[in-house]
Amino acid sequence: PYDVLVVGGGPAGASAAIYAARKGIRTGIVADRFGGQVMDTLGIENFISNTYTEGPKLMASVEAHVNEYDIDVMKQQRAQRLEKKDFVELELENGAVLKSKSIILSTGARWRNVGVPGEQEFKNKGVAYCPHCDGPLFEGKDVAVIGGGNSGVEAAIDLAGIVKHVTVLEFLPELKADAVLQDRLHSLPNVTVIKNAQTTEITGDETVNGISYKDRETEEEHHIELAGVFVQIGLVPNTDWLGDTVERNRMGEIVVDSHGATTLPGVFAAGDCTTNPYKQIIISMGSGATAALGAFDYLIRN
Ligand code: FAD
Repeated sequence: PYDVLVVGGGPAGASAAIYAARKGIRTGIVADRFGGQVMDTLGIENFISNTYTEGPKLMASVEAHVNEYDIDVMKQQRAQRLEKKDFVELELENGAVLKSKSIILSTGARWRNVGVPGEQEFKNKGVAYCPHCDGPLFEGKDVAVIGGGNSGVEAAIDLAGIVKHVTVLEFLPELKADAVLQDRLHSLPNVTVIKNAQTTEITGDETVNGISYKDRETEEEHHIELAGVFVQIGLVPNTDWLGDTVERNRMGEIVVDSHGATTLPGVFAAGDCTTNPYKQIIISMGSGATAALGAFDYLIRN
């Protein structure tokens, strides 16, 4: 058996594996797509110590770092079931069962897409999902935020301090965000909220130049000229396959304590698939390190 088996090869998983392997214990990583979400990121300006890098470049150096250690890397393999017996057993979609004394779950998350024409085409060309990451790219420009829940309204408040104007498009007749956030939003001079708005298309040439929506009350079509669209309709953790083996919250995030431990002894979790509040590369790496040290602590006591 492994001492530590990591599920997921994004920043959290890679960091967990390196921290584990540096303890001289038997470590493996199972990853569907090594690199994770970072492979879809063009410019990264908030990875501290690096003023600018690109996703594939960053993950190539992370992979090289992993390869410096004696870590079994199993790529293009998906885990489909977890069970605690004498060891923790991880079943892969190919039928293989791996055994380990401890497991670190770091399967990440994915942004929910609006699924309208233009969204895929203009990803990284004006269509964005992360205000902390991409907000500054739109300084002085007009943007829209799709979604009026907590994350949409938080994004709009954040962006209003950077960009020229923010239009919030909410599908429902009311915003769903907490009242304090709505009050703050309504106090800002450069924000317009449009309710009952069904986004129909994101338009552009080289990059985004506008957004079209239908007023669901009047059925009228409208078009707004702008430079960026932030899609904020939910971040979905890749945790369905876990069922109720470990506690997950209402959103499906794995509940972890300050040592990265889940509710199942010997099973730890890190990164975007957990209840850690902010979903960022640097934070995922930190929580991967925490989970590995948590797992090591568990191993020396059991
Ligand atoms: P992920 O990166 O999601 O990695 C998850 C890993 O688990 C992958 O290897 C995946 O293949 C694997 N996996 C999933 N399910 C299974 C399974 N069942 N079996 C086996 N393997 C599985 N953050 C920043 O800090 N700065 C930025 O500029 C930035 N820009 C972003 C731009 C975009 C377009 C996106 C989508 C995200 C951006 N982020 C940015 C957020 C950042 O990418 C994430 O916070 C970070 O990648 C989370 O790392 P993670 O390791 O937890 O998960």
